[in-house]
Amino acid sequence: MSSLEPNPDPASLAPFRIDTHVHTSEVSTCARVPARDVVKLYKLAGYDGIVITDHYNSWSFETYGVKTWPRIMDRYLSGYREAREEGERVGLVVLPGMEITFDGPYYADFLVYGLDPEYLYHFPALHKLGLRRFRELVVPLGAFVSHAHPFRAGCTPADPSLIDAVEVYNGGNDPAENRRALEFARRHGLPELSGSDFHHRSAVGRGGVVLPDRVGDMTGFVRALRANPQLPRIEEA
Ligand SMILES: [Zn+2]
Ligand SMILES: [Zn+2]
Repeated sequence: MSSLEPNPDPASLAPFRIDTHVHTSEVSTCARVPARDVVKLYKLAGYDGIVITDHYNSWSFETYGVKTWPRIMDRYLSGYREAREEGERVGLVVLPGMEITFDGPYYADFLVYGLDPEYLYHFPALHKLGLRRFRELVVPLGAFVSHAHPFRAGCTPADPSLIDAVEVYNGGNDPAENRRALEFARRHGLPELSGSDFHHRSAVGRGGVVLPDRVGDMTGFVRALRANPQLPRIEEA
């Protein structure tokens, strides 16, 4: 195992602080804070941006009480849309992402950046594809797939050749789980990301990354991830 060098101090590298893993209570049944409050909290915490990564999976969709795919996606995107409006009002960049869980064959969560929300209407039920087929479809469209908390209890780490990065710091994990994720990323030479996995007020600003320049849209965010495989990470206990 190679030694794990210290992470650069994110506060010393001002530019663009963004949380890569944030849920809203409008969409994620496990989350407790409505989108507009999430945005206000992050603005107060000194962030420049957040990515809304609400849960995209079969059991979440079943709770919506709507049947057609366009209505499911209207509901799925409602947290992001509320957050974006509030972000425009208060001056916080809000980007659309997702946390997808496939129906099988094992349990794992993936953070997806770079998919246009409109695309989600055109290709129903991406969670039924499995990671390999999902990638074949979305990576050519510009998507970037980060493995969320691969070593959280109950999760199975995915084939590293099918992911673009690893969430090596997750604000909801314990330190040992995060350390195993960091070792996994280093063993496989994958970029290392950090995210709060914000569900509750107490989790605001636990994680994120510091981009060298401002980004205003998802394309810019993914470009920054690809151009900077080792971004300074925000990691707060
Ligand atoms: Zn959740
Ligand atoms: Zn999450």
